[in-house]
Amino acid sequence: MDEKTPPLSELQQHLQLLSAKFSERLKHELPELRGMAQTLRNTQDPEDRKQLLTRVREQLHKLSGSAGTFGFGTLGKQARELELQAVEWLEHLVKQEQGHSAFLDRLEEMTQQNFVMELNAASGQTVTAVSQAALDQRRIYILEHEVELGENLRQTLNNFGYIASHYASVEALDEAIREHMPDALIIESQELEYAAKLQAQRNDALSLLVVAPQDDFSTQLQAVRAGAMGFFCKPLNFSQLENRLERCFAQQQGDPYRVLIVDDDLELAARYSLVLRGANMQVEIINDPAMIFAHMRDFNPEVVLLDVNMPTCKGPELAQIIRFNDDWLRIPIIYLSAETDIVRQMSALLKAGDDFVTKPISDNALIATVFARAQRARLLSNALSRDSLTGLLKHADIKDQLAVELERTQRKSSIASVVMLDIDHFKQVNDNHGHSAGDNVIRSLANLLRQRLRRVDCLGRYGGEEFLAVLPDCDAEQALRVLDEIRQRFSELCFLSKDGQFSVTLSAGIAMTRSADTAGELLERADRALYAAKHNGRNQVQLGG
Ligand code: GH3
Ligand code: MG
Ligand code: MG
Repeated sequence: MDEKTPPLSELQQHLQLLSAKFSERLKHELPELRGMAQTLRNTQDPEDRKQLLTRVREQLHKLSGSAGTFGFGTLGKQARELELQAVEWLEHLVKQEQGHSAFLDRLEEMTQQNFVMELNAASGQTVTAVSQAALDQRRIYILEHEVELGENLRQTLNNFGYIASHYASVEALDEAIREHMPDALIIESQELEYAAKLQAQRNDALSLLVVAPQDDFSTQLQAVRAGAMGFFCKPLNFSQLENRLERCFAQQQGDPYRVLIVDDDLELAARYSLVLRGANMQVEIINDPAMIFAHMRDFNPEVVLLDVNMPTCKGPELAQIIRFNDDWLRIPIIYLSAETDIVRQMSALLKAGDDFVTKPISDNALIATVFARAQRARLLSNALSRDSLTGLLKHADIKDQLAVELERTQRKSSIASVVMLDIDHFKQVNDNHGHSAGDNVIRSLANLLRQRLRRVDCLGRYGGEEFLAVLPDCDAEQALRVLDEIRQRFSELCFLSKDGQFSVTLSAGIAMTRSADTAGELLERADRALYAAKHNGRNQVQLGG
């Protein structure tokens, strides 16, 4: 391990800047609080006292929620204690007069202390944000003693666009790993000990898939303990294995989660935003709850973080407003509050909302809470709008996307290509090898398309064994090149069924946008080109006129 202090990352610098700003703010806020304490001592009128004390309590509440986050933990704790006393005092304002001067003494004492920023152990760690894995080709190592199987798997994964290497012994694998860490490791169950050792040396988890001769409980348990994300039995189903790999990577490198923060405390919101952005999330902040609709619509957040105490509108009220709209029902709402009273937390959750985090929250806890909620929300949302066999958009959704893209090309005077793709003689695949072998073929083509197309391209399952792709800023010639390469690779994939190996081909038709096209016309031209490809003997890609 390197003992030297690493240079401050940009994020850390921003965080320090925010803490410095907060400490500037304290220079006004603390004397203000002291002023109020002094006035309180000299105020006799019960109504005036109540008003003033309420303001003191609010001020303390804000401080107790924010100071710790900015590295002023001691101040935060003191503010919290005093807040509780203030609450108590407010509740028994008339009955009980003693103890007030002690409270005011402590309050004044707090405001006169010279607080220095404490090193916040938690905030140092967060900055090791989720590392952004390379978005291009993934490196996969395979440890398989059966050379033929290992080589077959390597070949198949390469066809899918991965950079796969096969090793027949742990020694050879170990040497390769020293040279270059893979993004995923496929290993036989008898070498799990090696895999476990490897995992222990890494900070971030390695995508680990285990191949075993049998699927008994104890081997699977061993695999889980070594950190495996998938378990497969021989004879290997390559397509299933590839599918799982795809899912592992999709989880790691999916688009950043979109988080909306609503908090009237500007600095605190800015800090949360920085922390979450450092963990590769996309964040928008609003300080005025009335702005909620525009942001929900335009930014389309996957998680909403709501401050509980805001001047114009309370968090739970805003949450209920969000819940009025059916489109936003599935978006998790997390309250952020200095509220530690469990009864009040529960009552906020009962009104609307999904979770409660108490300020001050450590950076890591904030990231973990938001991440877990966002991940789950996205999984659910995908399950609803995506085809369950392939994970691609469903018919209606890909057509929507086509309309959106077409509108964009017309607005920007740019181009796009539309591709209709259909598997050749698929009925025979089902007839000869069974429906589930057919499903595997469909899933493999979906994975191959996902692998080979760009992230900006839209891809959907248009019908049973028919796919539709929309490729923005791509002319017909470029589309033809990409699709023909996909066609070639698909024809080289080797599928397994109980009656042995088989391979399948596909045909595709391409149409490029013209200025006054409608979506229907574009689809029709692509469909005609596909028909021509079929008519011409299949296993080919045709350009539409
Ligand atoms: P062509 O080359 O002309 O496209 O011939 P084809 O046999 O592929 O075309 P056809 O449209 O006649 O047959 C498509 C078959 O795909 C019929 C249907 O049973 C099958 N199919 C549709 N959806 C699924 C699915 O989800 N899973 C499986 N296994 N088969 C499906
Ligand atoms: Mg077909
Ligand atoms: Mg068809």
